Order: sequence, then structure tokens, then C-alpha cells
Amino acid sequence: MNRYARIAMAAGALTAVALVFTAGAADPEPQKAPNFRTSALGYNDTPVLPGQKWKVHDIDRPRPAVVTPGAKLGDAPSDAIVLFDGKDLSKWEIPARPERKRKGSDRPRPTAWKVENGYFEIAPGAGTLQTRDKFGDMQLHIEWASTPMIYGDSQWRGNSGVLIMGRYEIQVLDSDNNPTYADGQAGAIYGQWPPLVNPVRKRGEWNAYDIVWEAPKFEGAKVVRPAFATVFLNGVLLHNRKEVIGEMAHRVVGVYKGHADEEPLALQDHDVPVRYRNVWVRRLKGYDQP
Ligand code: MG
Repeated sequence: MNRYARIAMAAGALTAVALVFTAGAADPEPQKAPNFRTSALGYNDTPVLPGQKWKVHDIDRPRPAVVTPGAKLGDAPSDAIVLFDGKDLSKWEIPARPERKRKGSDRPRPTAWKVENGYFEIAPGAGTLQTRDKFGDMQLHIEWASTPMIYGDSQWRGNSGVLIMGRYEIQVLDSDNNPTYADGQAGAIYGQWPPLVNPVRKRGEWNAYDIVWEAPKFEGAKVVRPAFATVFLNGVLLHNRKEVIGEMAHRVVGVYKGHADEEPLALQDHDVPVRYRNVWVRRLKGYDQP
């Protein structure tokens, strides 16, 4: 290869690099087709939609807010509240308890969950972890993994749980070849509804929950609207706006007990290690609130 050929190759490589960087820059003006057409931006002479204040295609209806999605599926979008980004548990706390000893043991309880390698892990006995902030209606993304080591079977294998509002449990369990009762396996609304299917990954691999939660409404202690849960595990639907019967309960039917519209989100310490990462929420709002 002569000198000029080498220079030409180097120039070609630089052009390729420049093109890659240009592609990541601000959107260029799109090229208009020769048969480019113009469409109305809305109308004000159309009928009013039943039950709404807006007309069909109403030109005055507020446009939805622009949200930048995460770079890859599962990443937090621009309007999410990130509760764990791989580094620290500053958004979380273990509520104070007077008793720091395990039942029937002299061993002191650990005081914190463990953070390492971009995830956090239950320190068995440390206690349920809960957010400092409170949440009601929300979209929640949370990833979890069972440890490669098993500490028991059935409900002692990789048991934790997403305790929405601190009391309604979407079960976390190592359900990879681990027989247990249907309404207690991974993805169950614990003690109430089994998941529609079991799409759990192999022990030690990461699973992802995407949950849409509609909080119950109370007048004092009386429930005037129950909670509804929509749950995906690894992109597979487990519950489709399923009505929640009441609080999580073991061996009895859970009931509702009045509480606030927003409560801390909690993760259950069931005395075995389970790992979590990439936790974010979006508070749900109604239509026409950009
Ligand atoms: Mg559990």
C-alpha cells in the first residue's frame, strides 16, 4: 500500500467516525417527499366526546408531555423517580424496631441490606426495607434475582416480596423447579391469585417486574374502591387489572384496613437472601395533565 492509499484509508475511517457521531446529534430536519401533504392540527367544530369536556380531535386539548424512554427496555424513562441506580440505598430505610435479636437466637440482627456489584441483597433478619417516599397509584419497575445458593424449599426458597404500600404483596420467590402452593409462587398476589403463567428465569438470573398499581380508596376504615394490580414478569402478563382482595395474609383471607392514599413501598425480608436492582417508579396521573 502506497502513502496515498494509506492517507485515503485514514480519511475514510475519520469520515465513518464523524458519521457515527453525527447520527447521535440533534435530529436533522426530515427530508420532505415530493408528495408531502399538510394535515389539520385539530378541530373546533366536532362533537363533544361523551363524559369528557373535549371535542373529537379537539385542537385545544393539551398535548401529552414528552418523555424520553430509557436507552434500552427496562431503563428508567426521563420522568421516573429512580429508587435504586446500582449505587446506594439512600432512598430506603429499615424502620426502627425495639428488638434487635433474632427469635430464639443470641445472634444480633444485621442492621442493613448489602449493596454490591450494582445490586442490593437482603441481609436476612435485618428487616423489611421501605422507601422514604410514599407512593399510591404508580408504575413500578423492579428487577430481582434468587441467589445461586438455595436455603430451603417451597416458601423458604428465595422468598421475598414487593410489598406495595407496605402491605399488598406481589410475591418474589425462586419458582424455578420449586413446587409450592399456586397463590404463593413468583408473581402471585400472595394468598389470593396465582400468576396466569410462570415465566420465571433460571435460578440466579435476573427477572423484571413491571407493575401498574391502582391504590385502594378509603373513607375512614371503609374501602370505597379496592386496589387493582396489573403485573408483567419478564414482559409476560401475570395479572390484568386484577382486583386485590385485601392485605397480604398467611393462611387466612386478607382484608383491607384503612390507610393513606400514599404509603412507602417495601421489600420483604423473609429471612433468606434475594437480590434487587434497577428500581424506579412513575406516579400515575390522569389524562390531559401534561
Ligand atoms: Mg414473600
